Amino acid sequence: MDILHNQLQAVQRSLSFVSTDPIDWKFYVQVFAWSVTLFESYLITRQYPLYSKTEPPKALQGHFEKGEFEKSQAYGKDKARFAFVSGLYKQTLDSLMLQFGFYAWSWQAAGSLLAKFGYGTEHQIIQSIGFVFILFFVSSLPTLPLQVYGTFVLEEKHGFNKTTPKLFVTDLLKGWAIAFVLGAPFLAVFLYIFEWAGDRFVPWLMAFMITFQLSMVILYPTVIQPLFNKLSPLSEGDLRNRIEALAVKLKFPLKHLYEIDGSKRSSHSNAYFFGLPWSKHIVIFDTLIQQSKPEEVEAVLAHELGHWYYLHPTKLMAVSQLHIFTILALFPAFLHAPPLLSAFDFSKGVAAAPPTIVAFLLFQMILTPLEAVISIGMNAVSRQFEWEADKFAVELEEKLNEKDMGDMGDRLGKALITLHVKNLSTVWVDWLYSAYHHSHPTLTERLRALEGFAEEKRKKST
Ligand SMILES: [Zn+2]
Repeated sequence: MDILHNQLQAVQRSLSFVSTDPIDWKFYVQVFAWSVTLFESYLITRQYPLYSKTEPPKALQGHFEKGEFEKSQAYGKDKARFAFVSGLYKQTLDSLMLQFGFYAWSWQAAGSLLAKFGYGTEHQIIQSIGFVFILFFVSSLPTLPLQVYGTFVLEEKHGFNKTTPKLFVTDLLKGWAIAFVLGAPFLAVFLYIFEWAGDRFVPWLMAFMITFQLSMVILYPTVIQPLFNKLSPLSEGDLRNRIEALAVKLKFPLKHLYEIDGSKRSSHSNAYFFGLPWSKHIVIFDTLIQQSKPEEVEAVLAHELGHWYYLHPTKLMAVSQLHIFTILALFPAFLHAPPLLSAFDFSKGVAAAPPTIVAFLLFQMILTPLEAVISIGMNAVSRQFEWEADKFAVELEEKLNEKDMGDMGDRLGKALITLHVKNLSTVWVDWLYSAYHHSHPTLTERLRALEGFAEEKRKKST
């Protein structure tokens, strides 16, 4: 522990200028944030013309029914325009809030609220919770119209929306309620660790965050998701038999196999698994079951189990711990830095003894460019994992010595095409746009790779 502590102190010393120098942090944050937004807008302008192509890529010709390709292009165009406008709108709002001292105002407002209940500012944790909820609430209101437009105009126009206005409102209220019920105690413990552990908070906070993440793995499917969707055991039949047999052969610890009523909100489709190492749940969207044949859904699951086989979720979790650790290791330099708070319009009194939550929030804003770079890296890793999982599905025949799995690659290809076509997903993709935004390779890339994997397999067997 002491080695860790000494290393962390060395990092702090090299960043000590943060606590002394009057740097115009607000200006930097504005520049950073606008750079990211403008870059994202630029990417949309690169991607946008591709929606005017009149023919699908060669590999996909013949897979679209009449009019389907045109529909997917029109959907892509509308989504791109919406993303362009809403990106700039959100950034303008954020920018205005930043410029006119909204954060400092929220802290004051939380203090006044506290005073009404007879608490003084010495109750920093309670004031922090009030602060975060004021921030969250006030800043989420102006973006509500965007959500309404996205669901009831855009998705509706292209035939995906199944959400009723009543469902929309109840979802929103449930979301806020959960954010409060989970968020308030989380924040309280998070801040308490700083008070209690002082400068040695890093290992304790890491331990707390990991515990929280693991408990969410249990709580999300059992408590939270059922509030929004109905999960019912997948009915007996061909599909169930296939998936259970596959799980047995791969020694996948399948505990529950569910069908989820994703169609309640949208006709987009999917499948996924989750759970603790010894007890896994598989969830399949009813829309996927309706759109694809059982042997094709089996291939989608073969791909998903490839993620499990190669420990992809565990690896991603490890990377995310490293990410959290880096953030926490850099934070102390920003924790006791009055000039930082002054730069964001906080009063002298507040800046003199910076509240942890305020410092953390401002620190997060300063990290924006770093986070953008990390997200590009994570997408690249995720795309690599997708290749591996596709390859896994193709190689199942030899891995399990099952002759009738020889066509798994073809089945997966068919399922992917159906998913894409039914979801009207984009088929023409700009490389830079894709590198920045996509966690999955494009459909044509995946089909080409599936063919490549099959070719390799044929060569090996002759
Ligand atoms: Zn995948």
